[in-house]
Amino acid sequence: MALVRDVVIIGGGVMGSATAYSLAVSGFSGQIVVFERDPVHQYGSTGLSAGGVRHQFGHPANIRFSSYSIRQYEQFGATMEIGGHRPDIEFRQRGYLILATEQGLPGLRERVRLQQSLGVEVSLLPPEAILDRVPHLDLQGIAGASFCPRDGYLDPYAVMAAYEAKAKSLGVQYLHEEVVQILRSGGKATGVRTAADREVHAPVIVNAAGPWAGEIGGMAGVEVPVQPLRRQLFTCIVPGELDYPLPMIVDPGGLYFRSEAGKRILVGKSDKSAAPGFDFQTDRNYFLEEVWPVLAERMPLLDRLSLDRLWAGLYENNHHDHNAIIGAHPDLDGFYLIGAFSGHGMMQAPAAGRALADLIQHGGYRELDASAYAFERFAAGQLIEEETLF
Ligand SMILES: Cc1cc2nc3c(=O)[nH]c(=O)nc-3n(C[C@H](O)[C@H](O)[C@H](O)COP(=O)(O)OP(=O)(O)OC[C@H]3O[C@@H](n4cnc5c(N)ncnc54)[C@H](O)[C@@H]3O)c2cc1C
Repeated sequence: MALVRDVVIIGGGVMGSATAYSLAVSGFSGQIVVFERDPVHQYGSTGLSAGGVRHQFGHPANIRFSSYSIRQYEQFGATMEIGGHRPDIEFRQRGYLILATEQGLPGLRERVRLQQSLGVEVSLLPPEAILDRVPHLDLQGIAGASFCPRDGYLDPYAVMAAYEAKAKSLGVQYLHEEVVQILRSGGKATGVRTAADREVHAPVIVNAAGPWAGEIGGMAGVEVPVQPLRRQLFTCIVPGELDYPLPMIVDPGGLYFRSEAGKRILVGKSDKSAAPGFDFQTDRNYFLEEVWPVLAERMPLLDRLSLDRLWAGLYENNHHDHNAIIGAHPDLDGFYLIGAFSGHGMMQAPAAGRALADLIQHGGYRELDASAYAFERFAAGQLIEEETLF
């Protein structure tokens, strides 16, 4: 016999679990079930993420979403406490230092002004002030930087696990089954079928399947413009002289690096030539040829690092404007998406989950307005213009 629930969420990564938690914590009285096919999240983007969290964007909606999320992360342990246990998401607010060339400086200055106008504590630093913060940098070709001390990085897996645990404590059900079919009746989504041949009927189906969101759209017979794009990360053991914690440093070419536990740094640089696909292969040559030389030029002492670990995960990319899609699908009633965050899902998850929960529960946005992220923007030609994507 089919189960009947009020909300089915497909995907128990950070987005699915943030949505489930946000619904459950705000008095939603319906029954919520999350389907997650992989209890250890081996390939999910959340656990493979760099965990960078920043206010520093160029579009007001992105700045507002990050600001909200960072406020949540600052009190996450207390909010997610269960029975006296406070999860530690290792949120290190060491700042994001975004470096700019002479050519990039006017744009950076404009973004800083916008961020400040929205209440972000961010400033422009001249080269001397950059070196005060990170003395080992070589600032060849760098004219300035922006820095926000409340930015930083955290443990993405711990965030996801905390949301899941808290959602469960509030009555959300998690089932480790794969959704293989979306049930529909005319223009309405009515439920799902799983690989275990379980049918669940619900008036609200949330597609929170990360890089697989496009496939879930296919099961529903509608277009969901989310493609998987391989992105690699590297951890390296660094020389002993680097004995102070680094902020997240972003080079003008998109290379980024930060401290990692135990005399290590974590480094990434998006391979813009990667073709869409479910490709988790790692490539040491990419590190040797494209990453390490840029890193060692920016911080010469890193000429002497040793590569410790490398892995690949998938950005969930919408090829129209590379920003999130949140809301109801225009071609199928009751079918919602929270996805397409590319490389900035961790810094938007608390806000995105809150906004979607409000939309489902109240039929409109309350605490946060996510209408800039609606599907409808593509047809209306109102793409999100955002330059600070790495
Ligand atoms: C290398 C890398 C670096 C990143 N760095 C950052 C960063 O520094 N800062 C930042 O903010 N963001 C970063 N991101 C992005 C961020 O990690 C993602 O935007 C975010 O984790 C997406 O969460 P999600 O829940 O949508 O997806 P996921 O975590 O992928 O969760 C989706 C889940 O759906 C499940 N699923 C899929 N299909 C089905 C099905 N049919 N049935 C049941 N379950 C299903 C999957 O098993 C998966 O667990 C990075 C991502 C990558 C890959």
